[in-house]
Formats: sequence, C-alpha cells, structure tokens
Amino acid sequence: MNVYNQYNEQLNKIADVAYASAVLMWDQETYMPAGGADFRAGQLATLSGLHHDLITSPKLEELVKQLIDDKSLSPEQHKNVEVTLKDLTKKKKYTTAFVEKQSLAVSRAFNSWQDAKKKNDFKIYANDLEALINLKKEECEIIGYQHHPYNALLDEYEPGITIEKLDKVFEDVRGKLVPFIKQLFTAKQNSNSFLFESYNKDQQWSFTLQLLKKMGYDFNRGRQDISEHPFTISFSSQDVRVTTRVNENDLAEIIWGSIHEGGHALYEQGLLTENYGLPAGEACSLGIHESQSRLWENNVGRALPFWKANYPLLQSTFPQQLKDVTLDDFYKAINLVEPSLIRTSANELTYHLHVLIRYEIEKQIFNNAVSIKDLPELWNAKYKEYLNIDVPDDSQGILQDVHWSHGSFGYFPTYSLGSFYAAQFYNQAKKSIANLEVELEKGNTSLLLAWLRKEVHPFGRLLTAEELSRKVTGEGLNFNYFFEYVQKKYSNLYSL
Ligand code: ZN
Repeated sequence: MNVYNQYNEQLNKIADVAYASAVLMWDQETYMPAGGADFRAGQLATLSGLHHDLITSPKLEELVKQLIDDKSLSPEQHKNVEVTLKDLTKKKKYTTAFVEKQSLAVSRAFNSWQDAKKKNDFKIYANDLEALINLKKEECEIIGYQHHPYNALLDEYEPGITIEKLDKVFEDVRGKLVPFIKQLFTAKQNSNSFLFESYNKDQQWSFTLQLLKKMGYDFNRGRQDISEHPFTISFSSQDVRVTTRVNENDLAEIIWGSIHEGGHALYEQGLLTENYGLPAGEACSLGIHESQSRLWENNVGRALPFWKANYPLLQSTFPQQLKDVTLDDFYKAINLVEPSLIRTSANELTYHLHVLIRYEIEKQIFNNAVSIKDLPELWNAKYKEYLNIDVPDDSQGILQDVHWSHGSFGYFPTYSLGSFYAAQFYNQAKKSIANLEVELEKGNTSLLLAWLRKEVHPFGRLLTAEELSRKVTGEGLNFNYFFEYVQKKYSNLYSL
C-alpha cells in the first residue's frame, strides 16, 4: 500500500472512533435511561482518550511527515495532509494531564451551572467558572496566539478568524443594525398570538417530517428524534440525524427548530462519502455550518415564497387554529421583531445583539478586564444598553446558555458569522439560479439544494470559510448582504 493510502486508512480508523463516540452521545441525549449516565460518561471518556492517542500517534505523524513534501500528490491530497499536520501539531501541544484537568473542570462547572440555573443564583457557579476560565487562559498560552489570547480560542471554532476581523463585523452590527432595530421597536407591532394556541403534538411532528422531506433531507440516510436541546449529529454522510422539540403551546418552536437542524443536516449529507475521515470530508467551520442552517431557517424558511408553497398544508393540518389567519398575517407573525431576554428564541435581527453582548464580555474576560464575580452586573448593563430590557434574574440572564460551562469561549461569534454568510450565499444563489423564488413558491427546493451541493458542501475543510466565501460569491465575508436583506424585508413588513 502506498503511503497516502496508509495515511487515509489511519484517518478512517480515527473517524471510526470519533463517530462511535457520536452514536453514544446521540443515544445519551435521546433514548438512554437515566441510570446509564455514569457508565456512559466513562465509555465516552475512554473513546476520547483513544481518539487522542490515535491522532497523536507516532505512526500518523511519520506518514504525514513523509507526505508533506511528496510532489506526486494531487493538490487535494496535499491539502488534506497539510490540514492533518496542523491538527496533530496542535493536539500534541496538550499534555494528557492538562486534558484531564480541563475535562474535570468542565464537569464541575457544568454541574454547578445546572444547579445555579435551577436555584437562580450565579454565586453557586462563580468559583467553578473562574477555575475553568483560568484553565482556558492557560490553554491560550499552550496553543499560542498573536495580539490577544482570545484569538487562540476563536481559531478553534472558526479557523482564520481573529478579534481584528470580528471587531470590524460587530462595528457594522453596532453602527447599522442597532439603529435599524431601534426604528422597528418604535413601529406598530404585528400580532403573533395565534402561534401560541394549543397545537396537537403528533400533528406538529408529522408536519415537520414533511417539511424536512420537502427540503431534500434524505430519510434513508437520517432520522428525526426528540431531545431537550435540538441538535444535528453525523456518523458519516450516510447517517446524519436531527433532533427537535415539541411544545403544545408554541408552534414556532418545532417548525423553525426542525428547519434549522435540517439545514445543518443537508450540509453533512452533502459531504462526499469518498472523503470519509479526511479533512475534505469534515465541515469547514462552525460559521459555515451555521450558514447552512440559517439559510434554510431564515432566508428560505421565514420568507414568503416558501410559505406560499407550504402554508396551505399547515392550514389544513390545523384548520381550527389557522382558518382565519391569512398567509400575510402568518408571514408577519413569524417575523416579529421585539426585544427579548433569551438568545435562542430571539428573532433574526436582535439575535445578533445577544451575540454581540457575549462577544464583548468574552473579550473582557480574556483581557483580564473584568472579575468573574462582576459578570452578572456587566451582563445586565449590556442588556439594558443594547436591548433596553431589565434582566429580572440570573437564570434568564447570564445563566441562560450552557456554552461557558463547557469551556466553549469563542463559540458565540460563529452564530452571527453564520447568518451573515447565509445572506451572502443566498444572494448569490438568487443570481445564479434562474427564477429561484418562483420555484420556491411552487414548492421546488431542489434547485437550491443542487446549487449548495455543488458550490458550498463538497469542499469540507480544504478551504477556510473566507476562501469558500470568495469562491462562492467572489468576495470574503461582507456584512452588507445581511444588512440589505433585513432592511428590505423588514422595512416592508413594518411599512417603514
Ligand atoms: Zn445551528
């Protein structure tokens, strides 16, 4: 076997271990009885140790070192090797002792976060959070960075992104989006109360299965289940699963939850099978992943053409609740812009203020500019400043998100990047596909999916997000596409 094939075979084994862990995680979040928790945690820890051993093994390193200067490789093969070398160089910086110390700190912080959220008291969590943050600061030094320690963490989720670049993006959010949102807050509000009537859960469930099918999600290579927090998980491009949640008194939760996860899943199903285990077979970045979920959720799924095609089915599924609700009423209701406390249920505009607040706080944390005990005060002041709301308690304030208790600092900005890339990609799709929105009105999403499959999905990690953006749209990330999209849509909705 030649050296490249040996390398490929080694990566397949590493992927087998990673995806086996993913199956256990999926089961843990969906069907595992509570009693299974302790042994499951041990099984997952063993597999993650095995994964770390394989990726830092001398055998893989040897193969990669032989291949990195091999002129006979194709450009794509060479790129795969280059990304693997970067991965293992980074992984090798961590000692086993540090990895264990951090995983213990995460367990502690996660437990006390759960407790603090239940009891509505940040103080219960503060010490464990501080211990975890100190380890993350140590991690920044281990990985290395330029200019600002936070850059080391950002790169983990969105390779190539830095504070310098993000500051520019969020400067636009502050300078353009914030004044526009303030204008909408003072405009006449539409009503969405009918979305919160009683809706039969089984019927909600089967409606979303039909929506997923219409989007092109392949149920021969996936399934939908229920979990507390919706997520998408892949065990290869041949088995990509989504989860959702059903609330009898909130029709929106399952519909846009399922469409969102469906968008993530279409991306994973669109990665090429022959690249299993290789960087080319893995998602580009969290920002690009989120661009695929947001594109379907918002640019497609909160727009008129999609609902011209699908509202009749929704209306006939729930005739009692929706018989007097016109398509126009429905469209307005699903696009209400109001200030709110909780990020995950925010509309597609104020959502970015929630992200901006977290980004500003994280920068301060890693700059040693705020002490942990003062975080709730800082949080509440920023909610007042950007959204003009008073945060009533810690549970609905600083304790609302799980991310920090997992040690996921630098993760939040990828949510905004995702929406901004989505608008830029969708704008390009409209230019490239003749009559795209006329086809969407007819219920035909296949042209859009085929375009994404060709232009966005197949490159995996062979391109960075910035490179992919240039390839698809001719330029790097440009906030103006998002801003023009929301300006046009919401000026119309609110008759500005
Ligand atoms: Zn998402």
